[in-house]
Amino acid sequence: MKKILSGRCLCGSVRYEYTGELEGATYCHCHDCRRATGGAYTVGVLTRAAALRIVSGRVKGYTTTGDSGNTITREFCPKCGSPLFAIAQAYPNLVWIQAGSLDEPASIKPSHQIWTQCAVPWAYINEDLPSFPKGGPVLL
Ligand SMILES: [Zn+2]
Ligand SMILES: [Zn+2]
Repeated sequence: MKKILSGRCLCGSVRYEYTGELEGATYCHCHDCRRATGGAYTVGVLTRAAALRIVSGRVKGYTTTGDSGNTITREFCPKCGSPLFAIAQAYPNLVWIQAGSLDEPASIKPSHQIWTQCAVPWAYINEDLPSFPKGGPVLL
């Protein structure tokens, strides 16, 4: 299903649009995601890099290698620091949009959660969702 998504950082200097397939959204409880956002976890919306367009502003990136061995670049607004995108070196044609940056975040339905062994006890998520204690699939 093709869908149009739009979003922005907190200060509004970075704006983006996505017109393409929506294939899922994943809660990630890993330590790096928690630190990078300052929240309990991230929700990453899986998108195709070729269909994602930054319509204003510029992002900066910071790259780490996670516990899975995956190298992840997290992109953010250099003015306000809002996390916007994550790109895994292993999947260069994919981008995970940080769901909190969407203009309509309620339109997203997370499909599964990963790294639940690192989850904090104060982050409750529906237990019926497929869960993977150590990493997990890109797509269910
Ligand atoms: Zn900003
Ligand atoms: Zn993570």
